[in-house]
Amino acid sequence: MRPIDADEAKRFAAECWPNPVHRLAIDALLDNCPAIDPKDLQPHGHWIEHPTGGLVCSHCDRYKPDEWRSMCCPNCGARMEDKNDG
Ligand SMILES: [Zn+2]
Repeated sequence: MRPIDADEAKRFAAECWPNPVHRLAIDALLDNCPAIDPKDLQPHGHWIEHPTGGLVCSHCDRYKPDEWRSMCCPNCGARMEDKNDG
């Protein structure tokens, strides 16, 4: 998946295909593409309690010695979801 600038794509298409029928079709196509929430591009994970204390990121397996459940992993940036340890 690659997020694009739909307005710029429309301008580019208008230059390449000046026929108004083609432009209407291209604009309709771009207008009907689903928008992407930038949060969906961020990896997801959850904290796993380490048996000797501290936490482990489920996404990158990085151990951190403290038990502060931050919203994101400081190593890989994964957004941490509420989930019981598993
Ligand atoms: Zn991580």
